[in-house]
Amino acid sequence: MKTFGFGVQSADDKLGPIVFDQQDPRSGEVAIKITHCGICHSDLHQVRDDWGNTQYPCVPGHEVSGVVSAVGEGVEKFKVGDRVGIGCMINSCQVCDPCQRGEENYCDGPKSFTLTYNGPASPDGTNTYGGYTTDIVAREEFVLRVPDAVASEMVGPILCAGITVYSPMKHWNLQKGQTLGVVGIGGLGHMAIQLGKALGAEVIAFTRSPEKKDDILKLGADKVVISTDNAQMESMAQSLNLLINTIPVSHELDPYIALMRPNSALVVVGNLVSFPEFSPGPLVFNRITVAGSLIGGIRETQEVLDLCAEYNISPYIKMIGIDEINDVYDTLASGGDSEFRHVIDMETLRAHKAVKNDEATAIPNPDRGEVVTRK
Ligand SMILES: [Zn+2]
Ligand SMILES: [Zn+2]
Repeated sequence: MKTFGFGVQSADDKLGPIVFDQQDPRSGEVAIKITHCGICHSDLHQVRDDWGNTQYPCVPGHEVSGVVSAVGEGVEKFKVGDRVGIGCMINSCQVCDPCQRGEENYCDGPKSFTLTYNGPASPDGTNTYGGYTTDIVAREEFVLRVPDAVASEMVGPILCAGITVYSPMKHWNLQKGQTLGVVGIGGLGHMAIQLGKALGAEVIAFTRSPEKKDDILKLGADKVVISTDNAQMESMAQSLNLLINTIPVSHELDPYIALMRPNSALVVVGNLVSFPEFSPGPLVFNRITVAGSLIGGIRETQEVLDLCAEYNISPYIKMIGIDEINDVYDTLASGGDSEFRHVIDMETLRAHKAVKNDEATAIPNPDRGEVVTRK
């Protein structure tokens, strides 16, 4: 299947039109005509090799929304015309304990899970290409059903930002009436506020930006605390049952540990690099857990999509054309526009002159791995 997209050949390249041939759906696989793809901050890191693991060519995008265009033999869950989504994964071993539990994101098979782009999480030299493309093929277990109440342009950010904050709420068993803290009110945080309210929690938002206060209250937060104001922070001492920390860069943890009740968990989902030293004393005296969490399994991802439909939860988005993508990357890199998710309208890729005139740069074909069937 001839597929067009936008990608890079190296870390200092600008995103530009590429073309490749992807294998038609095999047995158990589904082909999707992409209508929208969200831009995640991690796309920017991956393209620029900030984590040192990028395989080039790199064609990003793991917030995919589209319509089924073909199905392989034996596919039962989907038919042509269904609205569907693909998140951060397209394959896993399906047989290890985490996969059997529906936690494919922690697959301990030989390649771990296969990322929607950039190949398997445990690299084996193969590469996959993501959703900044006209079409994508994945095995049916990794394709999400889109409920009627969720608009196609809203799907993508739920599949990355949404599941990333929802999974820790489930794992640490956030209960109705408990108090959830959310630190950093950007792409992840604004979903965490809405999802925490849907689960019946009292939600306290922590931000450095007083000008965001009204918008944060509109999202449903019960209270906004300005994290640079010591008096406000001290008034919240030992008040939280769970805290989801979405700040994507290194920062002091001690002020947040002080907010935690006994037996609570402070969960890091944004910063993968480093933290300054923090004092273990309060952790010991109050049995507080400092933990991390990575996206979520497919079953939970379907659950969060369905919850968004039920509670009318939407990400804040801004639609863009494919030609605006390099400008958006520059803005994101400088820390701007973090209060909403950019979503690419893929019709603008189909209408692009490089696609119409067949002038895109040819890149090697992707390899999405074998389809191993769950026993
Ligand atoms: Zn993402
Ligand atoms: Zn597995």
